[in-house]
Amino acid sequence: MAVSQSQQGNWERRWHPLLSQWVIIAATTGNRPWNGAVVGAAESINKTPQHDPSCYLCPSNTRSNGTVNPDYLGPFAFDNDYASFSPEAPTFEDEDSSPLMRRDSNLGRCRVLCWTEDHSKTLASISQENMRAVAKLWQDEYNTLCKETDIKQVLIFENKGQEIGVSNPHPHGQIYATGFVGDTFSRLRQSQKDWVKEHDSSLLLDLIARPEYQDTLKIAENEHCIAIIPYFARFAYECWIIPKHAAQHIGQLSDAALNDLADLYQQMAKTYNVLFQRESPNISLLYNAPCDDHPENENWQFHIIMQPPLREPDKLKYLAGYESGSANIVNPVQPEIAAASLRKAFAAQEALA
Ligand SMILES: [Zn+2]
Repeated sequence: MAVSQSQQGNWERRWHPLLSQWVIIAATTGNRPWNGAVVGAAESINKTPQHDPSCYLCPSNTRSNGTVNPDYLGPFAFDNDYASFSPEAPTFEDEDSSPLMRRDSNLGRCRVLCWTEDHSKTLASISQENMRAVAKLWQDEYNTLCKETDIKQVLIFENKGQEIGVSNPHPHGQIYATGFVGDTFSRLRQSQKDWVKEHDSSLLLDLIARPEYQDTLKIAENEHCIAIIPYFARFAYECWIIPKHAAQHIGQLSDAALNDLADLYQQMAKTYNVLFQRESPNISLLYNAPCDDHPENENWQFHIIMQPPLREPDKLKYLAGYESGSANIVNPVQPEIAAASLRKAFAAQEALA
């Protein structure tokens, strides 16, 4: 049966061409979180002190292992004191074991990235200069870590908000630089390679060249980068920030492109606070090409995914039975409607700036 315009987004599944899986769109179009007002955005500013003597990330404070943080200003990075991956991880190369009992080393490095010395800030509220310095730190860290022989993948990310289990409110992110290429990265590499083979062009650059991404699925753009909601969004207000020109990783961005990336990222962080009328929790992921010597890394397009775990200001998105069991995510908001809400919120945060 043909589908009318009003039914679009209900009871349909959309193909995720990077993850090679279906996403279930179960839109409830009358249930929008946006109500047109920006009331509450100013009230959502974090009221914690600028320096907390008990915070192990604040400048000049002593961490639990006895290390004293420098009296830093702006971004500051150090090796995680509680790392899941380590350069000192034991190796198991000589083990003669069954494939049913296989194991390997957790070689790698975990880093902590403080965005700023100010305990009370977030990436939405630091200065533009500080945000650009954060992006420069992302680039420097990637460039340094990917040169280490044992490191095959560098995942820079931020978990923001108590809702997703962040124990320390100091504005910070992390890096897991691992000695193997993880499942999602392997899928992304395979999909992008297959696309190039068939179309002789970049999957993500072809995607943003489609008219939908200049229209219903676009949130905002500047000279070097664009922010969109993918047609196949897995999470209600998932946003992808993509450089408009080919770049396998953040290390390949020019200074001007890096500043544009930082600016658009910060505007999106502010946009989420306006959309949800509160300090929005968020998971941000920087998808750089793996840094092993795999020839297909050259087909990769760097991008950032911002993934707030909210479906409404006071409602978290849970991965419950069906999703946990199948890995096919149910998105309760039609991506075109989410993009329209984010465009309005984006304009509102620009007006507040
Ligand atoms: Zn702090």
